Amino acid sequence: MKEGRVLVTGAAGYIGSHTVVELVNAGYEVVGVDNFSNSSPDMLKGIERITGKRIPFMELDCSDRTQFAKVFEQYPDITASIHFAACKAVGESVRQPLKYFENNLSSLLHLIELSVEDSRRRGIVFSSSCTVYGEPDPENLPVREDAPVKPATSPYGRTKQMNEEILRDCVNAYPSLNVIALRYFNPIGAHPSALIGEMPLGVPQNLVPYITQTAAGIRKELKIFGNDYPTPDGTCIRDYIYVCDLAKAHVAAVAKVLEDGNNDRFDIFNLGTGTGLSVLELVNHFIKATGVNLPYSFGPRREGDIVKVWADPAKANKELGWKADTPVDDVLRSAWAWEKKVRGIE
Ligand code: UDP
Repeated sequence: MKEGRVLVTGAAGYIGSHTVVELVNAGYEVVGVDNFSNSSPDMLKGIERITGKRIPFMELDCSDRTQFAKVFEQYPDITASIHFAACKAVGESVRQPLKYFENNLSSLLHLIELSVEDSRRRGIVFSSSCTVYGEPDPENLPVREDAPVKPATSPYGRTKQMNEEILRDCVNAYPSLNVIALRYFNPIGAHPSALIGEMPLGVPQNLVPYITQTAAGIRKELKIFGNDYPTPDGTCIRDYIYVCDLAKAHVAAVAKVLEDGNNDRFDIFNLGTGTGLSVLELVNHFIKATGVNLPYSFGPRREGDIVKVWADPAKANKELGWKADTPVDDVLRSAWAWEKKVRGIE
């Protein structure tokens, strides 16, 4: 067992749940918190079945400081936190910006306040996003961490940018604090056990849940948003990263924020595969990997979509000793296995 305990906020969420599994596998003591605003207690059962361990957990809202403080009272051995808990629907954030600023900023502020109260709580790993880069200029592809941060295109994206800035200022002011911001590209797939995975509420906005729901017959067909983009096949390009690979990067980041003599106290890493795939390529991978029929057609562009973005993950490869190397066909099969499990297919 490792020394100390890792707090995971948003532990029942998509990336949070996979990360708890990898932390436990790596020998960390954890405690999870979640308010289940966009997640289900079933995920905790899934984590416990996968790991064979009881996961310490508290149902609470990080935007309520009094509630949040209770986890630190109950678990005084917390040395690092991974902060996933946040609202994440881009469209909703445009309609309800105050909800996003209020929740996403206050939760992080409380985490920082409660962390700097006790110098043992020295590490924070923050869940950020490649959305901070906006539409990268062509000379900045693949995107490195030093590519310019562009004005956010949604309040959701702005909360990620603002939270990174808040953390940057706070490490300067509080010498006990060590922070790593992880900028994710497009996380997809599910744990190979099919016991945890992504659980979108209502009509999925993201590509892979829409694909798997269409394959399951819940949606009539996939609409590919635009095939007249300046890309080889006319559809947008993204860097799709397997959620279990992504989860492992968090384990490496926790080890790094807890390292003694870590001088770079606010550090940023891109988490992606380094390879861009078009929507059409991804769809064809899905059909080939699963053998399932996937009705699709081309529709108009989606407003606000970025044409092409993929990561240069060299810094994370080198400094975190981590690489996303699961083949995309395996990843898509895992997403399909999870969808079938949820729907009771086969
Ligand atoms: N996409 C699509 N049809 C859908 C959902 C998404 O064609 O029903 C496309 C979308 O235009 C984008 C890519 O799939 O080019 C990834 O979209 P997603 O929302 O998953 O991620 P993001 O846009 O945040 O990168």
